[in-house]
Amino acid sequence: MKKSAADIREDLKTHVEFLAEAGAGFVARGPERRPAAAAPGPGAPAASAAAPPACGLPSLAGRRAQTGAERKALEEIDRRVLVCTLCDLHKFRTHAVPGEGNRSAELMFIGEGPGRDEDAQGRPFVGRAGQLLRKIIAAMTFREDEVYITNMVKCRPPENRVPHHEEMEACLPYLIGQIELIRPRVIVTLGRTPTDTFVPGREGMTARRGRFGDYRGIPVMPTFHPSYLVRNEGNRELKRMVWEDMQKVMVLLGRR
Ligand code: URA
Ligand code: SF4
Repeated sequence: MKKSAADIREDLKTHVEFLAEAGAGFVARGPERRPAAAAPGPGAPAASAAAPPACGLPSLAGRRAQTGAERKALEEIDRRVLVCTLCDLHKFRTHAVPGEGNRSAELMFIGEGPGRDEDAQGRPFVGRAGQLLRKIIAAMTFREDEVYITNMVKCRPPENRVPHHEEMEACLPYLIGQIELIRPRVIVTLGRTPTDTFVPGREGMTARRGRFGDYRGIPVMPTFHPSYLVRNEGNRELKRMVWEDMQKVMVLLGRR
């Protein structure tokens, strides 16, 4: 789909807004600081893709075109999620939130779980953190309808607590199905909850962010959750780090 002039203007405005918030000085120095790990360019495997494919499941590297049956299967996942009762989180929800965006997206974002606004609207990342994520996406030169956005659990945990292990385990097959059927070229995990599943490690996010992991041949970039940025609004260093991580993703996708 071609962007209209109005779309491009709007993207640019959001882009500039986010860049200003992330610290324009860093952005100006961007190209020289391009990290070696992200150098291979589009189509190349992630430099640090050392982890073995999860649980012996087949590799998803090398993007095949999606079939009609696969598109139907994705719609079926959405339908099942909307009526799912596999874990206790279904008791608290107003709306389940399967995810949204392009069902053959090259880039997929995985958050933790719906919050109050998401539960009310049935859409992921529509609250304050979501607005920031959508700014980041625009700054990456993607339209919202080019990427796919979803969460580890599809129903809101009460008081926005971290989902329990059993809840994530019950919900994971939906997400795995979405990844297998969408087959993104890059996944971004937002915050510790999805990062622990896709790029397991013992260190905190500060140490784990910014380095590609690997999920079945798909490079996975862990970064801070946008709600952490919202909670630390004055901290430009956090924004700068997220932007640095997203630039590595952009390099891999040929966006810069
Ligand atoms: N935080 C998340 O992790 N996911 C959402 O959808 C919204 C906020
Ligand atoms: Fe089903 Fe996932 Fe919702 Fe639990 S969180 S009820 S597993 S859709």
